Amino acid sequence: MNGKQQLVIAFASRTIGMDYQTKAFTQQFPDAEFRYFDTERDTLGDRSEIDVVVCWTPPPGLMATLPKLRLIQSVAAGTDHITGDKSLPRDVPICRIVDTDMASGMTAYVTWAVVHRQRKMHGFLQNAREKRWDELLPIIPPVTHTVGIAGLGTLGMASARALMAIGYQVRGWSRTAKTDLPEGLTGFHGEEGMGDFLSGCDTLVCLLPLTAETRDVLDARAFDRLPRGAHLVNVGRGEHVVDADLLAALDDGRLGFATLDAFRDEPLPAEHPFWHHDKIIVTPHIATRTAPSTIARQTAENLARLDAADEALPALDMARGY
Ligand code: NAP
Repeated sequence: MNGKQQLVIAFASRTIGMDYQTKAFTQQFPDAEFRYFDTERDTLGDRSEIDVVVCWTPPPGLMATLPKLRLIQSVAAGTDHITGDKSLPRDVPICRIVDTDMASGMTAYVTWAVVHRQRKMHGFLQNAREKRWDELLPIIPPVTHTVGIAGLGTLGMASARALMAIGYQVRGWSRTAKTDLPEGLTGFHGEEGMGDFLSGCDTLVCLLPLTAETRDVLDARAFDRLPRGAHLVNVGRGEHVVDADLLAALDDGRLGFATLDAFRDEPLPAEHPFWHHDKIIVTPHIATRTAPSTIARQTAENLARLDAADEALPALDMARGY
């Protein structure tokens, strides 16, 4: 039996199981009860007892069946995988993860992707397989290469700082104007700033949230605005990229290369042309992850903030979309 005061936390995902979270949550919430909903099981029991849902891709309609629900906690920096559900209760906050360890993971991935292409590592790896000593000249210093970061939030800013520390020229694009950018980081903003931003990006890194405005933002028009031969790194969401436009731009040389970590359909279907393209590197949405202990701790902090009506709650702004 569930005691009256016992906190009930449900882990919900349409796809992968989330058992890996249980140990960290048990340590953080020793008195709570845990229930599960995923492809393999439904142990939600009496739905009127559930206080918190911790989720990646929850099944549509689930939240509307939980009358006591106080908090929807995403296990990721984004919340777009949750908000597609039109029946979401409007009064329950949806919180994302804000995580500096996640920022360092993302920074490592973005830095690798930029360096890998800019220093021609793809070519060296191919040559090494054939024991071919070829310098692939010219060797271009980072200072002559400009990386544009679309999305200057937690992850974008951390990546920008790391790339500047190595010596790359860095520019960023955000929704609103920034007055506090670090020295050397050139900022652009809004629809009106997008063309100027793109026109100077030798590498374009997408670190945008998925919203109505950013869906399909990386389309033929955007690729036309980039310098010829630019490199696209997508670590945002698959829905930012128009797949057919990307393939066309790679095939006719407008884009030189793409490093992709996020896809419209995940896992990326075996027949998808991205798998076989010699100008694309595919990684399986692993750019960064948050440790379960961090998710458990932030869930506890968010519940405490809810109790205290603290405005620092990292809740989704429904009007803004992120
Ligand atoms: P964040 O802190 O919310 O920052 C979002 C940034 O995007 C902000 O700078 C925002 O502008 C900007 N932005 C939003 N809408 C825009 C628009 N219409 N035009 C131009 N700029 C816009 O997000 P974050 O924590 O850095 O995470 C960013 C994204 O990374 C997530 O939403 C997710 O899609 C992705 N991600 C991927 C992985 C992975 O493993 N591949 C892991 C974690 C996250 P303002 O500054 O003006 O608000």
